[in-house]
Amino acid sequence: MRIFDPHVHMTSRTTDDYESMAAVGVTALVEPAFWLGQPRTSVGSFVDYFDSLIGWERFRAAQFGIRHHCALALNPKEANDPRCAEVVDLLPRYLAKDGVVAVGEVGYDSMTPEEDDAFARQLELAVAHHLPALVHTPHRDKHAGTLRTLDVVRESGLPPERVVVDHLNEVTVRAVKDSGCWAGFSIYPDTKMDERRMVAILREYGTERVLVNSAADWGRSDPLKTYRTGRAMLDAGFDQSDVDAVLWHNPVAFYGQSGRLVLDGPEAPSTFAGNSILRGTPAGGGGS
Ligand SMILES: [Zn+2]
Repeated sequence: MRIFDPHVHMTSRTTDDYESMAAVGVTALVEPAFWLGQPRTSVGSFVDYFDSLIGWERFRAAQFGIRHHCALALNPKEANDPRCAEVVDLLPRYLAKDGVVAVGEVGYDSMTPEEDDAFARQLELAVAHHLPALVHTPHRDKHAGTLRTLDVVRESGLPPERVVVDHLNEVTVRAVKDSGCWAGFSIYPDTKMDERRMVAILREYGTERVLVNSAADWGRSDPLKTYRTGRAMLDAGFDQSDVDAVLWHNPVAFYGQSGRLVLDGPEAPSTFAGNSILRGTPAGGGGS
C-alpha cells in the first residue's frame, strides 16, 4: 500500500509514529497548522510554529523517507483571540514558500464574527496565492456549520475543486459532494468517524474527490488510520486500485494543484541547521 496522509499533525507525534507510518507505506503527508491545545499568547509563537512546519518537521519526516508538506493558516479557534489577529497579515510571506501546499486549517469553530472574518480573509489569500484550502468543520453543530461553510466558500470565488471540507460524516457528506468541493474524512479511534463507517460511505458515494486522513494530533488519535482504512476497504471487497485511488492518487491530485508537491528526489540531509534527531552520537549534538 502507498499512502499519502492529507491531514496529520506530526509536531505532536513521536519518531516511533514516523517509523510505524513508514512501515505500513506512508511516504507523504500534509501537516496543517492548528491549535496547540492551549492558547498562544503572541504572534511570535506562530512565527516559530510556521518556521518549524516548513523546516524542522520536514527534516524530521525525511529521516523516515516521508515527504512532509504543510498547510498554513490562523486556526478557527484562535481567530477569536485578539492577540493572534495579526497572524493573517503574516501569512502572505509564508504562503510563497516551498513545502506550503495549501491554506489551512481554516473554517469555523464556534461560528463567531471573528471567525467569519478570518475565514473569508484566508480564502482570499488562497485565491491570491493559487493555493488549495483545507477547511475544518465544527465538531458541534456540524450540519449547520457545514452548510454555512459551503456558503462562505462559494462567496470566496475559490473554485470548489480547490477546497477540501474536512471532518465530514454521514450527515454532512451529501452537501459537500453536491457543492463540487472535495470531501475529507478524519478517522478516529473512538467517536466521530471510524474505518467501518468510512467504507460504507465509500460504497455509497464512490472514491472520487474523497480524502481520508488520520488527523492524528496531541489527543487520542492514531496515525495509522489511513492504513487501517485501506485494510478495511480490501476486507470489504474494494480492490487495490480503489485503495490506491483514495490513499494516494486523490491527495496527490488535490494538493498537486499547488504545483509544489515533491514526491521524489534526493535523499534526506542528515542534519538541519546543525542539529539531527540522533542523540548521544557525534552527529547528534543538538537534541536535549
Ligand atoms: Zn487537524
